[in-house]
Amino acid sequence: MIALPPTVADVMAQARALGVDRLDAQLLLARALACARSWLLAHDDAVLSAPQWVALQAELWRRASGEPLAYIVGEQEFHGLRLQVNPNVLVPRPDTELLVDWALELLDAAVPGPALRKVVDLGTGSGAIALAVKRGCPGAVVTATDVSAAALQVAQANALRLGLVIETLAGSWWEPVAGRRFDLILSNPPYIAGGDAHLAALRHEPTLALTPGRDGLDALRTLTCGAAAQVEPGGWLLLEHGFDQHEAVQAMLRKQGFGAVHTRIDLGGQPRCTGGCR
Ligand code: SAM
Ligand code: GLN
Repeated sequence: MIALPPTVADVMAQARALGVDRLDAQLLLARALACARSWLLAHDDAVLSAPQWVALQAELWRRASGEPLAYIVGEQEFHGLRLQVNPNVLVPRPDTELLVDWALELLDAAVPGPALRKVVDLGTGSGAIALAVKRGCPGAVVTATDVSAAALQVAQANALRLGLVIETLAGSWWEPVAGRRFDLILSNPPYIAGGDAHLAALRHEPTLALTPGRDGLDALRTLTCGAAAQVEPGGWLLLEHGFDQHEAVQAMLRKQGFGAVHTRIDLGGQPRCTGGCR
């Protein structure tokens, strides 16, 4: 039990007792008090009102039970964009910025040569990849798809709020873009194996976003198999994958006739994205 009304120091002690990370607790506290995190450090004895404490306590419990901070605060920063998120979408990961950087390099390299500008992001979730590419390369014509209508709503709302114009289409992998060709095809599909113990820790995020079941490679197979018919000559396919899947993905790309196949390493030193040129 903590004394009421609680001070900033009391709340931090309570958060620690619950097992909530110090930084997360400070972020939630700063949000509750509508102040900067730095202000908290110098105001240990500031007091919360009863409604502030009731709301914050509920948030600390949610965080303690493993719910991502992004769902609690309703947003996540990705590649310099503030994206709104909810439990219908994967929380965009910093690792995925690698895919965006690679895409932007390719789009940049295409200027002033033949324009590499029709881009599709398959399985867009919050719209993270599609919107970061559109912001980084306003001349690109960007399409974003998802099989989840609820996820697509989040992507559409983010696009609207950020003033970024992209096309959004509902449907499974290639189906919503059948018969169309793109210069750049991007995807961070679900790739965790069905029986992976890691899934338990991710239980607050949509299973559909995390795992295609079995060995984790089914979505990557569908994407590489269909890509040859949907990519323009000279266009690229870039895929995010698990740390131990790069050899499998490289083999899939080569089998489909892609050249210049190579893998990039994420900030954690893991092979994270593989791409090839048609
Ligand atoms: N692109 C977002 C990002 O990087 O943060 C979300 C990636 S999440 C790992 C995979 C996304 O693929 C989810 O939004 C999920 O709904 C979508 N998805 C799953 N199965 C799909 C399918 N059959 N067709 C299209 N999208 C699918
Ligand atoms: N990178 C995510 C994780 O392991 C998984 C996302 C995915 O399956 N594409 O937490």
